[in-house]
Amino acid sequence: MQPTPVPRDILIVGAGIAGLASAISLAKELASSVPDLKISVFEGAPGLSASGGAISLTPTAQNYLDKLGVLSELNRMGSEAGIEVDLIELFSLRSGRKLGPLKFTDENGFGYGGYKGRRVMRYALSRAMLSVIQSHLPNVSVYYDKKVVGGTTTDSSVTLSFEDGSFATGDLVLGCDGVHSITRTRIVDPGNRSEYTGISFIQSVTDAQDLSIPMHFNQTAIHLTRHSSLLTSYCDPDRQKIFSAAILRVNEHLIERYQATSKSDCPEQASMKMSIRYLVRTQFAKSSLPSIRALLDHTEDWALYPVYQVRQRGKWHKGRILLLGDAAHAMPPRDESAAYSIEDALIFTQIFSRNLHAPLATTFQQYESMRRDLVNKVFDASRRLWQSDLDKGLFPGHVRELMSPVHLPPGGCVPGPTTTTASARQGIPAATHQSFSDLSVYSLTREFQGEIES
Ligand SMILES: Cc1cc2nc3c(=O)[nH]c(=O)nc-3n(C[C@H](O)[C@H](O)[C@H](O)COP(=O)(O)OP(=O)(O)OC[C@H]3O[C@@H](n4cnc5c(N)ncnc54)[C@H](O)[C@@H]3O)c2cc1C
Repeated sequence: MQPTPVPRDILIVGAGIAGLASAISLAKELASSVPDLKISVFEGAPGLSASGGAISLTPTAQNYLDKLGVLSELNRMGSEAGIEVDLIELFSLRSGRKLGPLKFTDENGFGYGGYKGRRVMRYALSRAMLSVIQSHLPNVSVYYDKKVVGGTTTDSSVTLSFEDGSFATGDLVLGCDGVHSITRTRIVDPGNRSEYTGISFIQSVTDAQDLSIPMHFNQTAIHLTRHSSLLTSYCDPDRQKIFSAAILRVNEHLIERYQATSKSDCPEQASMKMSIRYLVRTQFAKSSLPSIRALLDHTEDWALYPVYQVRQRGKWHKGRILLLGDAAHAMPPRDESAAYSIEDALIFTQIFSRNLHAPLATTFQQYESMRRDLVNKVFDASRRLWQSDLDKGLFPGHVRELMSPVHLPPGGCVPGPTTTTASARQGIPAATHQSFSDLSVYSLTREFQGEIES
């Protein structure tokens, strides 16, 4: 029997975290074994977006980004490199009482496997990933303003169609187009649309120098009420920018109105912005912490980000197309979802590169059998936390997420496509899944319940 031809023309839908991580990982790993490799990333947005606020990168995410060469790129970006987070300070919003820190380091200041947490603007992370591609990976091209609207997959090739009427044909498609993925809903698993979780983030970035009083936290803090939480974090090393996110239940009706008014020069836009600001202030301005009151007083421009999820156990592949990242498994809020997206890219690269002559169906099945159980487990745990918290009107689930900041697959880490600097780094060992239950998360959370004022 003839061996299956090696897929050389790889099309990636979406230049988000999963898409760019896949492009980097595949290009690095296959550079020597597939000399005529061509990777094309098609992004629907017209360019690199400045929206999305700041993202929290767990030690796991940082470990993976290091393997891909992105962390060193990020570290070269000066004020845009984000802030390293040793610990998250927890406060009761109303009383201002400190509830304790969630640590990313040991007593000597070393992070897990050498990595701490980091809070960085999303656009800066994308810039660092693109910079790795532009500087080192000539086989990868990223095209903007190329919104995929459909596609077909046959035994020998796969074709994507774009909104502008053009087409692209290749050997393999990775659908990395996020929670509302067209690749999923129109091709791989038609009808499997995203669902609103009931939770939204209302986010803003404020200049620290515009505030009259200093902040009460060092790097990052979470302020809890019984029904919601307010995250505040510096997102640059000089502590000039404060990222705030109000995490609360928001009615779907309000989201629809917000989305309708934010489209263009809608006359209702100003009043919607005021409503959103009012919502945040009603929920959080009664804090006894003067710096929180000053922050909320000063911050006018809030943006609403509803959190959606993808129905569990849906299809991940069809023909020559595989879904990765949020397109496959967007979950109820987890501060480590980005780590799962990068992990998808690394694991797929590993399996694909070892089976270059295998039929894609076999490679996809192998990938799914390695990934599905873990994703299901994490999804179930995440949903249970949020559901029980919402039912009780409490909000500790989000905190619990943050209190288990480290997630790595059993054994420590995914073998990466490049040599990692992690082994050279000092620090407490990388945590495993086991660490979730080892971090005395549940006992601490139980302790808090009596201490959080409504
Ligand atoms: C409010 C909020 C806060 C979050 N905070 C954190 C956090 O602090 N830490 C964390 O780890 N995770 C966080 N997450 C989750 C995290 O953002 C996602 O898990 C992660 O971005 C998934 O990466 P992705 O590449 O799969 O999808 P995305 O990052 O969504 O990227 C998808 C890309 O595909 C593009 N695209 C979409 N449709 C098309 C199309 N038809 N054609 C071409 N391109 C298309 C999009 O423009 C986008 O660039 C948060 C999520 C939300 C909603």
